Amino acid sequence: MDPIKYFDADVIVIGTSIASQTVIQQLKNSNLRILVLEGGDYELTKFGDSLTFSDERGHYINHHWGGHWSRVYGGASRIWNGFSAPLEKWDLVGIDGRPKWPISIDEIEKYYRISAPTMGEDPSVANLVKYDTAKMFVDRPYIIMDPPLSYSDPKLLTKNKNIELRVKHNVIRFTADDASTHINGIWYSVDGDVRFAGVKKNTRIVLGTGGLGNAQILLQPDPKRQVPVGNESGLVGKTLMGHPHVPTGEGFIDPSVVKKPTWAQVKYKKWLPAYIIGADYKTKLNLLNASISFTPAAVREISPNEQAVQEFYEKKWGKRLALFTLYGRTEQLPNPDNRIEIVSEKNAAGLHRLKTYCVFSAKDTMSIDTTARLLGEHLLRNKLGVTTIDNDSIFLKTWGWAHPSGVTRFGTDPKESVCDSYGRVWSYQNLYINGSSLFPTVGYANPTWTIAALGMRLGDHLLKEMKKVG
Ligand SMILES: Cc1cc2nc3c(=O)[nH]c(=O)nc-3n(C[C@H](O)[C@H](O)[C@H](O)COP(=O)(O)OP(=O)(O)OC[C@H]3O[C@@H](n4cnc5c(N)ncnc54)[C@H](O)[C@@H]3O)c2cc1C
Repeated sequence: MDPIKYFDADVIVIGTSIASQTVIQQLKNSNLRILVLEGGDYELTKFGDSLTFSDERGHYINHHWGGHWSRVYGGASRIWNGFSAPLEKWDLVGIDGRPKWPISIDEIEKYYRISAPTMGEDPSVANLVKYDTAKMFVDRPYIIMDPPLSYSDPKLLTKNKNIELRVKHNVIRFTADDASTHINGIWYSVDGDVRFAGVKKNTRIVLGTGGLGNAQILLQPDPKRQVPVGNESGLVGKTLMGHPHVPTGEGFIDPSVVKKPTWAQVKYKKWLPAYIIGADYKTKLNLLNASISFTPAAVREISPNEQAVQEFYEKKWGKRLALFTLYGRTEQLPNPDNRIEIVSEKNAAGLHRLKTYCVFSAKDTMSIDTTARLLGEHLLRNKLGVTTIDNDSIFLKTWGWAHPSGVTRFGTDPKESVCDSYGRVWSYQNLYINGSSLFPTVGYANPTWTIAALGMRLGDHLLKEMKKVG
């Protein structure tokens, strides 16, 4: 079918949450004409909500992935506040068979700094990417995005004359030229009415439709091609990862443990105290990256046994101890069996729905257990606290936080990745992705700050690229 019209823009950005807004932030003061396509409406609707249901298998179920993927202007940024932290060099270097990131920590650090204000934080917090790797425990707290990081006001975008926003435009899939070098069209739907628009060769497309959404579009079949446009690598949908999250136990802790860290000379606005194992030990012990955070325990009755333990150590160490809950967050190993696929049924916007498979591995949960044990020993040895380790919570009731990652991973080799180091889909000169779907490994840290950093980096890259074109 011939294109009936063109989306006439220099850059088409799809999605309006963090992955997209941070790219736009870097582009908006240029003279580039930016068209923003958003599948949701300005507020949540039943129609929008119906689009994110997947058949969920494994450990993340009960609308877990879909519940983290809002089809509305601003995306998931509208419905949460929470914690994030920068990744570290160790997360990116491909230790122990994990895929390597195609960019260095120095490059990301620069963008953590630039994007920190977007996350409501001081740029100095980016100093945390570097630490003394020989230390067994390093305090690497999370930043707290409170109030929520919300892009709910579309005027922040549309006050720029060069930006056009179209809501309720759900992108279904792309079409490509015969040479398979450029995206030349977009199938999309408005209130379920399916339409097509052409895309000019010099138009850059940025896909920011969420950790699952980016892959969903690249998995939609094209009746004229053997493989869907964008999945020439065959890797789209593979190595789905989230973050196992569990309470690891409790402890009577010296309040100095939860003080603001000073080693990185950071100026936190709000922070959640947490510790990770240093890089050298993680490598030696063959662990994944895991962190344990501390929050004051909810008020509850202390049993006589617990009271005896508290009093014993307070007397022995000559200091007051307070009851804290310890909470573990670990990285999940990239495993090709953990994946998303499309099913034959379509949603109301005309996209084939998703089936997700995602299961925690022994290493995922054991890394939390070992980290909790070593931290407990470290606190005891240094007269800083006495903790419990909750086996059931770690191994039997493991809980995950659906931060969908890995399903369009970026890398240096087109045979082993979907996108290049800037998130450009290898086969196409004009199709870019941003979001946690790029992450080849996820580290322990919740993903949003890294998404924001990569978004600003991509924005800067596009500015340079488009200047070259003139
Ligand atoms: C309850 C909850 C708690 C969370 N807690 C944390 C936390 O503590 N720390 C942290 O770092 N992260 C947290 N997250 C994750 C965080 O929300 C995501 O990392 C972040 O929102 C991802 O941004 P994104 O732009 O990639 O995708 P999304 O926020 O998912 O946005 C995707 C955008 O694309 C649009 N879209 C989707 N499909 C289409 C389509 N086909 N066509 C057109 N538009 C489309 C959507 O409407 C939306 O605007 C949490 C999420 C939730 C829901």
